[in-house]
Amino acid sequence: MKLSLPIPSLCHLCGLRIDSTMGHHLWCPHCHRQMALHIKRCRCCGLQLETQADKCGQCLKSPPPWHQMYCLGDYQYPLSTLIQQIKRQKRYWLLPPLAQMLSDLILHPAPMVVTVPMSWHQYLLRGFNLSEVLANEIAKSAPQTQLMPDVFLKHARSPMQKTLDKTARLRNVRQAFSLRQRPKASHVAIIDDVVTTGATVRHLSELLLDVGVEKIDIYCLCRTPK
Ligand SMILES: [Zn+2]
Ligand SMILES: [Zn+2]
Repeated sequence: MKLSLPIPSLCHLCGLRIDSTMGHHLWCPHCHRQMALHIKRCRCCGLQLETQADKCGQCLKSPPPWHQMYCLGDYQYPLSTLIQQIKRQKRYWLLPPLAQMLSDLILHPAPMVVTVPMSWHQYLLRGFNLSEVLANEIAKSAPQTQLMPDVFLKHARSPMQKTLDKTARLRNVRQAFSLRQRPKASHVAIIDDVVTTGATVRHLSELLLDVGVEKIDIYCLCRTPK
């Protein structure tokens, strides 16, 4: 008789012993619930809404250049911890389930996805671009979606956005990126791991609109709350 027992492993977030009968094998049900995936968010900026409205007051008053933003949740525990584990400890195996959870939210996927580039020295330091790896995973899970790399160029000498305040980020981002080639689709999604102020995706959206792209969505793992 073959004995088959669930193989126990430890939750990547709290260290609790989990097994395959508990649903997910990388984090425990308690940590999964803390991701609060079903919180109502503004469809434009991805920030949490307090009412059942579709959009927040700010986006109604001044809509962003993109159509819709999809994100899993706020950039806080536990999603922020998982993203840091992927980036700093190179736990790449945590990314596919997060990418799948993000894909599951997207009802009408764009036929083409593009990525937020890093400068070559940022790339050398980290060894990978999370936006690109995430885009690959999303393109794999949606066969009708094509990944078009190298649509944008990041200039080498621009300072890291996270070191700047909001006004400086807006000014910096306009000098930091340019368009290398026009995407061959009228509906395009820009993929970023974390959207902080939105300055980067705003500028990249404007570059796409300038060359005739008609509809832009943003796919990101997390949105930094205000
Ligand atoms: Zn846990
Ligand atoms: Zn909004």
